[in-house]
Amino acid sequence: MRDPEEELRELAASGLRRSLRRLESPQGRSVTLAGAGSCLNFSSNDYLGLADDEALKSLYQTHIGRLGAGSGASRLVCGTMAAHLELEEKLAALKRSEAALTFTSGFAAATGTIPALCGKDDIIILDKLCHASLIDGARLSGATMRVFPHNDLDRLASHLRWAAEKRGENTRVLVVTESVFSMDGDLAPLAGICDLKDAYDALLLLDEAHAFGVLGPQGRGLAAALGLEGRVDLQMGTFSKAAGLSGGYLCASRPVVDLLVNRARSFIYSTAPSPALAATIGDALDLICGTRGEDLRTVLAAHRERFLPGAPSAIIPVILGENEAALAASTALQERGFLVPAIRYPTVPRGSARLRVTLSAAHQTEDIDALKKALGEVAI
Ligand SMILES: *Cc1c(COP(=O)(O)O)cnc(C)c1O
Repeated sequence: MRDPEEELRELAASGLRRSLRRLESPQGRSVTLAGAGSCLNFSSNDYLGLADDEALKSLYQTHIGRLGAGSGASRLVCGTMAAHLELEEKLAALKRSEAALTFTSGFAAATGTIPALCGKDDIIILDKLCHASLIDGARLSGATMRVFPHNDLDRLASHLRWAAEKRGENTRVLVVTESVFSMDGDLAPLAGICDLKDAYDALLLLDEAHAFGVLGPQGRGLAAALGLEGRVDLQMGTFSKAAGLSGGYLCASRPVVDLLVNRARSFIYSTAPSPALAATIGDALDLICGTRGEDLRTVLAAHRERFLPGAPSAIIPVILGENEAALAASTALQERGFLVPAIRYPTVPRGSARLRVTLSAAHQTEDIDALKKALGEVAI
């Protein structure tokens, strides 16, 4: 049998071994790394700085007192708590969709939704850079999978033409993409994708993980920014990034959501998130949509422009190629007091190892300047 230690040695030899690093502080503008002291944090997806927000934390505590800490069981088994339903109503209204369903994580939303809607007779067409949760969801479904080069509308069109020839009367054809790509920070050409999926009578699942809370009117995401919410059949996202908490969602028509309640295994066979968490997510949504959210997005946009004018999102990759180069740059930055992760295969394609800088409204202007200076010094 294979020896796990041997596998770890192989990972280490190719610069791909990962290990967990202990944090001694909450999330925030800076974090305390065990053994390394305080670092400015350019690694989290807490774009609006809500993970350690005083107002949200105190609401969370109140909700625990009112609603309890745990949810007891899956929502189909023990009855669904009002907090989850209220959150879903609020979210559906916000996303201009008929209905919404929440999951324990974005990962669970993807791996629950895709196999619930597609099976072995169906066809799923994904962008090459789709997140692991979307790929795993597609694999779990048993559907035929086709991948198009990142943001390549011509190749998407040719896959859709192929699917149109192959499909039977009941075949579902599902196009899957993200609005802001998690490791590149660029945006999907969503209008073109909507035109194609409509022309070929396909469904579109759009993962707004890194856009929700950040882009569009009220932070409603890329589809809202482009006026395309009504054309995206399945709007997916997470509360773990700009909302600063955790949990995933899927917004769609009422029949689709009802079908998910019946078929999405990550929903059915998993205990519901804490009701206090669901209520706090509702508060985070109010905050994101309101003037405070607007102010935080303005700060974030100013940081983004200062760091890299014209950058499409708060995710800014610095591509270095080799794993060792990315690791060395990350270590050199940490020695200067900046936490910027090295991202390697399989998270990104081989040969495109990178630093992934994420900006947050929690940062101060001088933090952005200091990081730019430090990046110059580590000679990249
Ligand atoms: C983070 C992420 C997910 C998973 O969301 P979690 O709530 O962290 O499980 C899904 N899709 C994309 C694009 C992501 O970046």
